[in-house]
Amino acid sequence: MSYTLPPLPYAFDALEPYIDAKTMEIHHDKHHAAYVTNLNKALEAQPDLAKLPVEELLAKINTVPEAIRTAVRNNGGGHMNHSMFWKIMKKDGGKEPTGELASAISSAFGSFADFKTKLNDAATKRFGSGWAWLLFRDGKLVIESTANQDNPIMDGGKAFFGLDVWEHAYYLKYQNRRPEYLEAWWNTINWQQVAENFANAKK
Ligand code: MN
Repeated sequence: MSYTLPPLPYAFDALEPYIDAKTMEIHHDKHHAAYVTNLNKALEAQPDLAKLPVEELLAKINTVPEAIRTAVRNNGGGHMNHSMFWKIMKKDGGKEPTGELASAISSAFGSFADFKTKLNDAATKRFGSGWAWLLFRDGKLVIESTANQDNPIMDGGKAFFGLDVWEHAYYLKYQNRRPEYLEAWWNTINWQQVAENFANAKK
């Protein structure tokens, strides 16, 4: 078995004006595609590992043979992270979560506005390339950030909402203005999908 690039669940221009079509095209068709290709290449001689769902593969990253571990970490992480990222955005997204997810966010962070500020802060302070996450760690809802394509699953966290702050996610439209990209990005969120991810991560 090999890993495959999931189709983008909407048109390239669906997230305009917040995220431009060209960025989405390059991000999905080039960057994500390359992670998948390079993950498959790294695992060519490891059919037993290559048949694992990517989240299982990454949960045991420390047991992957050392010669390919970095390649699997970076490209497997890239594949898993982006597969989630596309789905938590949609055309006409935004607003706020509802139901159980909304209550969980409020009790963990004070309010939705406080949560937003804290996630933005984690994303802004991440130096260079990486991600900011909302996740369960030891049964608690927390915000963390990771470098590169690392995913919290690599050290036992269960992330269900992630924000890509690699320059490739925003540079064409926002150049060095990461905070402007972050502000815009909240208008794309598919809270229904995030709520579904939340329910699965909570199990
Ligand atoms: Mn990316």
